[in-house]
Amino acid sequence: MEDTISAVATAWGEGGIGIVRISGPEAKDVLERIFMPIKKKRTKGEGLQPDSVGETIGSPIENRRMTYGKIIDPRDGTVVDEVLAVYMKAPYTYTTEDVVEINCHGSVVSLRKTLALTLEHGARIAEPGEFTKRAFLNGRIDLSQAEAVIDLIRAKTDRGFDVAMDQMEGSLSREIKAIRAKLMDVLVNITVNLDYPDEDIEEITYDKLDRDLRDIDRDIDRLLNTAKTGRLLREGLAVAIIGKPNVGKSSLMNRFLRESRAIVTDIPGTTRDVIEESMSLRGIPVKLIDTAGIRETDDIIEKIGIEKSMDAFNRADLVIFVLDGSRELSEEDREIAEHIEGKKTLVLVNKADLTQVITEKQIKALNPESHVIFTSMESGEGLDLVEDHIYDMVYGGQVKQENGLIVTNVRHSDLMKKAKDEIEAAIFMCGGGEALDFLEVNVRQCFEYLGEIIGEAVSDTIIDEVFARFCLGK
Ligand code: GDP
Repeated sequence: MEDTISAVATAWGEGGIGIVRISGPEAKDVLERIFMPIKKKRTKGEGLQPDSVGETIGSPIENRRMTYGKIIDPRDGTVVDEVLAVYMKAPYTYTTEDVVEINCHGSVVSLRKTLALTLEHGARIAEPGEFTKRAFLNGRIDLSQAEAVIDLIRAKTDRGFDVAMDQMEGSLSREIKAIRAKLMDVLVNITVNLDYPDEDIEEITYDKLDRDLRDIDRDIDRLLNTAKTGRLLREGLAVAIIGKPNVGKSSLMNRFLRESRAIVTDIPGTTRDVIEESMSLRGIPVKLIDTAGIRETDDIIEKIGIEKSMDAFNRADLVIFVLDGSRELSEEDREIAEHIEGKKTLVLVNKADLTQVITEKQIKALNPESHVIFTSMESGEGLDLVEDHIYDMVYGGQVKQENGLIVTNVRHSDLMKKAKDEIEAAIFMCGGGEALDFLEVNVRQCFEYLGEIIGEAVSDTIIDEVFARFCLGK
């Protein structure tokens, strides 16, 4: 029998309300020990007399009914807070156990005191993620759905939230189960042929086996292909802005930040040399890294050489290289171009509102791999093309799949890669006409790796690791 756990479920800090959540067989008892339901009685005033309000002890706590009352310390009868409490009877609850939620005033003091009382009267403090872990262990959701809960809580953009919501509702689980069903078919076919070779059953042909395995391989591939988009949606696209002084880097940064509808957070740069700002670009979280320090020195390369700036560049998924289109290319521009060679680069020929002296041809000679856009931070020209480029980069030609399933979790994509290796080994052996029992080992392993994604046959260590990432009270 599980014990009863309790934690503050809302964020610590000032708020309208804050919630203490209790789950487990004793949840209702704990509430009853510290909560006094109250009924307000209103007596109509007469003439100029105001209405008077009296209090009596209210009716007992009912299932799924919000009850007004007071949290009272039973030791001395002091009132801790005025609250609304609700008791939700098992099994149709978040954890599938009896659950109580106490809506306190959103003050750290009230929450701390109420939580302490629950702990003194039968509950123990929950570990991070323990409520969700119970939902998983009690079979209400599988592991991938539990992980989606973390993503949901942490989502910074609408799109990230939608993807997590989809996964929480079981979109990934369904796909994985469908692939595993195909693998199971293959396994059954192999086993039947191995174990009952004399029976009158259809003999497995390597031709059919090859077709089935390739079909499964394609399914896994399809999921894996979404993982890159998933990583960017989760972590955000890191964009470094570089260019010599006065070309318009800060103006670009300001334009971006002003036009992005939601500025997610301000992460102050770790050093004077690098400023990082986060924004949402059409639902994609983007981290803009501006190398502010660079404009203060003539020796650009030396400045870039500063470890922190280098680090920012190394982390960047995209480098935006800004040039001043109204001036000839200079030695500095060439040095920067050399420096960012090999990085995915978008070149902005800025100040397009002035007379242009730089041509696309010159830039292609400078950095053949780059994509070039003519912009003006003055008029805003070209900025939508910059956004298009970033958007396409993230969805990598998968825009059609926008509402489809996207794999966002590294644990999932790692397991999919392992599963793919196994299925490809099996395909290879199939082509070589290897014995079925060799092949079976890989197919079974593939089946198991995919099972780990949804939490079938996973070790306790993995489960603990997954839930350790949660915040308290979830
Ligand atoms: P940074 O040193 O690269 O960050 O450059 P800034 O963004 O500070 O811009 C330098 C100067 O160029 C400022 O006076 C800007 O107003 C101006 N500037 C930036 N972009 C444009 C543009 O597209 N057209 C024109 N005409 N001026 C620009």
